[in-house]
Amino acid sequence: MSEAAISQEKCRPVVGRFAPSPTGRMHAGNVYAALMAWLIAKSQGGRIALRIEDLDAQRSKSEYVSAIMRDFEALGLTWDTGPLYQSERGEAYRAALDELKQTCRVYPCFCSRADLHAASAPHRGEKLVYAGTCRNLSEGEVAAKRLQKAPAERIEVPAMHIDLIDVIQGPYGQNLATECGDFLVRRADGAFAYQLAVVVDDAEQGVTSVVRGVDLLCSTPQQMFLQRCLGMSSPVYAHIPLLVAEEGRRLSKRDRDAALPELLERYRTPQGVVGHIAYVVGLQSVDEPATPEELLETFDLNRFKGGISDFIQIAWRA
Ligand code: GLU
Repeated sequence: MSEAAISQEKCRPVVGRFAPSPTGRMHAGNVYAALMAWLIAKSQGGRIALRIEDLDAQRSKSEYVSAIMRDFEALGLTWDTGPLYQSERGEAYRAALDELKQTCRVYPCFCSRADLHAASAPHRGEKLVYAGTCRNLSEGEVAAKRLQKAPAERIEVPAMHIDLIDVIQGPYGQNLATECGDFLVRRADGAFAYQLAVVVDDAEQGVTSVVRGVDLLCSTPQQMFLQRCLGMSSPVYAHIPLLVAEEGRRLSKRDRDAALPELLERYRTPQGVVGHIAYVVGLQSVDEPATPEELLETFDLNRFKGGISDFIQIAWRA
């Protein structure tokens, strides 16, 4: 970990988080992310906050919320605060958007394709740099377009470089103007965008340690930009490799052998599942049952110090 990251951590108690989207039962990749978040927080004497990312009302289901919480509990992935439900946070997101408008330019955008992706986390390689189509519309043009459809809202980014030192991936940065582009903060249907919600909620929950899949690394400069605009400090980021079914294809619901219900059947107990996942990702050298508490005894965050280059994929083995 960088010296800056270490000194940042010394000043604040470590708070990690679980941030599941309740769109299905968990699979091995979700369990790995939560296990790493837990180990990284607990190895520093920290706490875990739980947040249910149910921003996407159509895809989120309450039965998955309870299943995910039960699964975390069974696996020994305990949380100390929360849950905070994104579906109940509209007022906080609205206030943050109003605050952003004081210092940044947020403009109506009538382009439709990008709207579709705004409320869900984007994936590595799918990041489109917005061409700026609606950036310079005249007032008359905006008024005319409003008669046709409700606009989304997009924040204008400056030609600024945002750099970070990721605990696992090492140094990473983006030029906001050329590699990110103006991005959505609100969709045309009124839903707040993932990027805004996650920043507001991480601040609300006092999160200092974000651990998640490397597919979200490319969103991090955007989130850090919003944190700066809103006067929030940035957490320390750790982006873990994705578990892949085969080279370049991340695990998904169709990979039944990675789904938690199947894993529980196959490995008999939650400890069997945790132990197997820990074995596949290299957290233990034998394929034996283990609890997160047991894995904590040998977990060494320093192992990742300075970043491990190209640590972005791990082949899943059931
Ligand atoms: N809710 C997202 C997921 O389940 C995680 C978002 C984040 O960690 O920032 O993939």
